Amino acid sequence: MKIGENATWMARDLNVVWHPCTQMKDHEGLPVIPIRRGQGIWLEDFEGNRYLDAISSWWVNLFGHANPRISNALKAQLDELEHVLLAGFSHAPAIELAEQLTRLAPPGLTRCFYADNGSSAVEVALKMSFHFWRNQGQVQKTRFVTLSNSYHGETLGALAVGDVELYKTTYKPLLMAAMVVASPDCYARAPDVSCAQHSALMFEQMAQTLAEHHREICAVIVEPLVQCAGGMRMYDPAYLTLLRDACNRYGVHLIADEIAVGFGRTGTLFACEQAQITPDFLCLSKGLTGGYLTLSAVLTTPTVYDAFYADYAAQRAFLHSHSYTGNPLACRAALASLAIFDSDDTLEKNKVLSAHLARALAPLQENPYVSEVRQIGMIAAIELVQTRVPRTPFPKQQRRGLQVYQFALQHGVLLRPLGDVIYFMPPYVITPKEIDFMVEIALRGIEHATNS
Ligand SMILES: *Cc1c(COP(=O)(O)O)cnc(C)c1O
Repeated sequence: MKIGENATWMARDLNVVWHPCTQMKDHEGLPVIPIRRGQGIWLEDFEGNRYLDAISSWWVNLFGHANPRISNALKAQLDELEHVLLAGFSHAPAIELAEQLTRLAPPGLTRCFYADNGSSAVEVALKMSFHFWRNQGQVQKTRFVTLSNSYHGETLGALAVGDVELYKTTYKPLLMAAMVVASPDCYARAPDVSCAQHSALMFEQMAQTLAEHHREICAVIVEPLVQCAGGMRMYDPAYLTLLRDACNRYGVHLIADEIAVGFGRTGTLFACEQAQITPDFLCLSKGLTGGYLTLSAVLTTPTVYDAFYADYAAQRAFLHSHSYTGNPLACRAALASLAIFDSDDTLEKNKVLSAHLARALAPLQENPYVSEVRQIGMIAAIELVQTRVPRTPFPKQQRRGLQVYQFALQHGVLLRPLGDVIYFMPPYVITPKEIDFMVEIALRGIEHATNS
């Protein structure tokens, strides 16, 4: 470890690597931080600087970096079986994980189809829904409904059912046209309206769309309770209950994309539990492997499964695959991660942590540049504005959130604001003291970014 080592790696990096979701020219001014190792909640660069990973490395990590229990499970698996195709073959980790997921998921989701990343899981759910209706002779069902400001991934099908303009606009000519219905996002509610009331009111438009178009609609896709990439916008479970009901009534599938919110982020293992609903498809990834390896799963019902089950000649099979479908190492990491939920009573412990986080964030409610502090479980967000009344955002080109990002990095915290939304989604191994540190740096970063 010596001074200058970060710069050396950074120079080599910028010579050959093209980074995701990045204008590479930004790195003429912004450093790329080469990470040498991770340990619990901390990341460490090549010069010994440490960064508290407040965003779980893009929402994937649950139990800290280099978690001994997950690492040891993987080391054992490595000596047994690294990979085998899942078509015609199987292995213990894939079977055990499917057993566990179908047991833990909302009741009725009895089948597990594997893929290898979040976007692919969304593609699987879309194709399965469309194909289900086709197998039922309902060939006029070809459309999908999504919520405004929703995010479901970057591959073309997933992008088509998302609605974050920044990622989507350029590619519009390539995308199928989804029906976009206004989001129940509570940030938009009137001052005297509760979140539950607002979300229920916003259901009107969805009800209308379904009433009018259900004959041509395969499925409605939603991110239950939190639109994460859309700025950690939150809504009430009442919306999901109404939506489940309407989908049943109109013969339309409900796809719950819990890729970001699954595995305890919202306080329950799955966000759907808070509305006591079972979707027709549940998409899981990100936290699934505790942040170790790339894996995703789509859980579905016997009704869906049975519509594909027939003699080969009937040509009803779901002929979709990815090379690394159900990779044994990834499945083993997922099993080890689920075992920690069990042995450590993680969801109970998180209640204490999330209450602590709420207390730490309370002073920000008074900040003149903060329009809202919102939280559900282990996800919290602070929305920065130029003025609170009327609510006016900062001009985008000022990139205030980026200033918070830079300040926080210099002070040992990895935040990665979504525009001007500063948020926290830390691994569950964070301590109350680390929460205080993380919030204090964010607070100072916000002061720094808003004082001119
Ligand atoms: C991240 C995310 C995806 C896409 O997952 P990838 O693994 O990045 O392809 C899909 N849906 C939601 C809600 C996500 O947050």
